[in-house]
Amino acid sequence: MHEVGITRSIVEIAEENARAQGATRVVSVTVEIGELSGVVPEAVEFCFESCVNGTFLEGAELIIERTPGRGRCSECGDESAMGPYTFECPACGQFSLERLQGDELRVKEMEID
Ligand SMILES: [Zn+2]
Repeated sequence: MHEVGITRSIVEIAEENARAQGATRVVSVTVEIGELSGVVPEAVEFCFESCVNGTFLEGAELIIERTPGRGRCSECGDESAMGPYTFECPACGQFSLERLQGDELRVKEMEID
């Protein structure tokens, strides 16, 4: 489960940010996870509690925001919703969808103390 490593890096990034701002505690952290990123939010939630042990984030609330997948067809320019296994443009039927959105994996916001 690679979400353990991902969750650890989220915690590290949040902790570094908090430290840089002179805080000692993170109250909540908002993480943006795109639907096409291949990261399972439930798995991140599951790992979070054990990963925050002994860090600034101990007891912090984890807020996960899902970004829906969107693609743009390089043939006809049509923009459409896109799932992880969507490659075909719904407008022209060409397999030329390019991802516009949905690959996100980042710490979006955090509340510190
Ligand atoms: Zn198209």
